[in-house]
Amino acid sequence: MSSTLDPAPTSTRSPDTSPRFRAFTPRDLDGLLQRVSLPPDERLALRAVAAVLPFRTNSYVVDELIDWTAVPDDPIFRLTFPQAEMLPESDLKQMTDLLRHEAPKAEVLRAAHEIRMRLNPHPSGQLDANVPVHEGRRLTGLQHKYPETVLVFPRQGQTCHAYCTYCFRWPQFVGESDLRIATDDIAATSAYLRAHPEVTSTLITGGDPMVMSTEVLRRYVEPLLEIDTVRSIRIGTKSLAFWPYRFLTDRDADDLLRLLEKVVASGRNLALMAHFTHPQELRPPAVRAAMRRVRDTGAVIRCQGPLVRGINDSAEAWAELWNETTALGAVPYYQFVERDTGPQGYFGVPLARCHQIFRDAYAQVSGLARTVRGPVMSAMPGKVCVDGTAEVAGEKVFVLHLIQARDPDLVGRPFFAAYDERATWFSDLKPAFGASRFLPGLDLV
Ligand SMILES: *Cc1c(COP(=O)(O)O)cnc(C)c1O
Ligand code: SF4
Repeated sequence: MSSTLDPAPTSTRSPDTSPRFRAFTPRDLDGLLQRVSLPPDERLALRAVAAVLPFRTNSYVVDELIDWTAVPDDPIFRLTFPQAEMLPESDLKQMTDLLRHEAPKAEVLRAAHEIRMRLNPHPSGQLDANVPVHEGRRLTGLQHKYPETVLVFPRQGQTCHAYCTYCFRWPQFVGESDLRIATDDIAATSAYLRAHPEVTSTLITGGDPMVMSTEVLRRYVEPLLEIDTVRSIRIGTKSLAFWPYRFLTDRDADDLLRLLEKVVASGRNLALMAHFTHPQELRPPAVRAAMRRVRDTGAVIRCQGPLVRGINDSAEAWAELWNETTALGAVPYYQFVERDTGPQGYFGVPLARCHQIFRDAYAQVSGLARTVRGPVMSAMPGKVCVDGTAEVAGEKVFVLHLIQARDPDLVGRPFFAAYDERATWFSDLKPAFGASRFLPGLDLV
């Protein structure tokens, strides 16, 4: 196939100046924190958090995204570095005590495991409820929750270029194999999709599939092009925000773009589901150049991200994010509510406040950016959208609907929950008007 690719900008192309990916792990945390003045106790607390929840970042995030003069309030610092308040106080104390006394490694690991297990590692029943079965075998690297869409978790894609502190995928990263969802059985994936022609859409996700080399990614993508019923392929990724050189100067960047072109040429919709959290992620020239190159392949970039306390909990941040991504030719897709896992107590924003932020931002953007839906909770029954608050028959209520549902009959039916200004998740809600359920078929969870 001939390629219409523009070369990457020459300034970033020469071997001498090509940025090289450099990962930072908990071992580097102390060194990185030398850039700010923190009391020793706080430093220890951050190390304690990093012993429980995964910490990983890279040279691009540290040198080009974080504004170190604004730390500790800088949104990208808060997005990628541990914060003491992320763990319950007693857990934090236990962990800092262990580190302070240089406890044996096994003891630290055991304590970390116990704390993780209390953090609801797999919300919404994702480890059991969505796993498809084919010819009597559970396909544990796939999730099939909505009839038309299957999620594929490639084994080699279960990490990220850097980790978001609020990541609900954290069990994928902490080396606890019982908690991982992943497959490398590509033949079984294909067999399942052939047996299920109702699946028109596949979403390759992780972690981040873009951490895989193009050669490995190809092994997951190309077999999908042999299945006529698969009409769209999505790739969920944070790479545009955290490592745009994946599309510019990485050794196999050009091969990657050719792979994307090949999918488009097959007559399928190819979408990069780009995870953006804050407009600061869109400022470096590298991300803009990367978005140009991706769009030039014919792929669509759709943007989504969660609303998180202390990082992007303002209408201004979201309006700028939606306006800027739209200007760069991408399409705003979902605004998520922070899930009920990991440090949700720290990052969660009440639903009433989420909706207010959504509405205030939505009102500031042109119709082109109003493709976005939100705030959305990806919960057990499906994707629940908070449409707003209202007063009905003298009662203050939340108005909600399901954008996606396990049971397609529930999609698009408005329902009501009693207003609760502190509710942060679907499980906090009760049906309005003293009813026993939200809708026939949609019960309390
Ligand atoms: C969001 C989601 C999808 C995709 O839903 P769309 O509405 O098509 O974007 C599929 N599976 C799961 C489990 C999801 O959370
Ligand atoms: S980009 Fe996504 S998968 Fe990666 S750490 Fe952030 S939330 Fe998790």
